[in-house]
Amino acid sequence: MSDPVPESTLPYPPVYKDKRFVVLSDWDGTITTQDSNDYMTDNLGYGKDKRRAGNLSVLEGRTTFRDSFREMLESIVANGWSFDACKAELLKNIKLDAGFQDFNAWCRASDIPVVIVSSGMAPNIHAMLSNVLGGDMASTIDIIANDVDIHPDGKWSIKFRHPSSGFGHDKSLAILPYKDLESPPLLFFFGDGVSDMSAARHADILFVKQKDDGENDLAAYCTREGIKHIIFRDFAQALEVVQAVVSGEKTKEEVLAAGKA
Ligand SMILES: [Mg+2]
Repeated sequence: MSDPVPESTLPYPPVYKDKRFVVLSDWDGTITTQDSNDYMTDNLGYGKDKRRAGNLSVLEGRTTFRDSFREMLESIVANGWSFDACKAELLKNIKLDAGFQDFNAWCRASDIPVVIVSSGMAPNIHAMLSNVLGGDMASTIDIIANDVDIHPDGKWSIKFRHPSSGFGHDKSLAILPYKDLESPPLLFFFGDGVSDMSAARHADILFVKQKDDGENDLAAYCTREGIKHIIFRDFAQALEVVQAVVSGEKTKEEVLAAGKA
């Protein structure tokens, strides 16, 4: 029996009903070169070894993403970091994929919405995005993420979108409403890690980011589960594939068969 659809504690932006193509993308480690929550856990929280053990435990199905991620964030709070101080560290240290700005600009000019679907916390994502793209451009990108609760004592905790789901934020619920439309758009999804496992099998064309650090968790998951995907190094490479599909030069089947951007 499949699990019931988890109730969402946070609103969703409207579904784009009349588009031919929609881009949905993970934020951390996909649009950014380094996962911001990993960065915080490794440098402000309990460190990389415990964090990696947590990721692998999720990949192997021994822990839920939700519980593992909450524990990582709690280790940052336990070390005395306020939410604002964390945000300031992220603004100093997290960079965007060098090709993302051009990718986003091309999508905008081509009437293709770009939606961020993240297990991170929306205020952090919005701050990082505004910092790089500027507030006007940043505000054109929908963010479907988790949120944060700031407590009266200054401590903070993650507010999960789907607290009853082991994913915390079940990313498939950002995708599935598109499948119910009368003429659904073709959905491109971009991801890199364990937080994307809930979305991977529902994309029409799935891009998985190549990692230099050996943390290729989504690639490992897709290979194990037999989910077709395209490995990409950066958004400049991915843009060429997206353009080939949008122009009709290549089919979905052809780009997935190639397996590499
Ligand atoms: Mg990620």
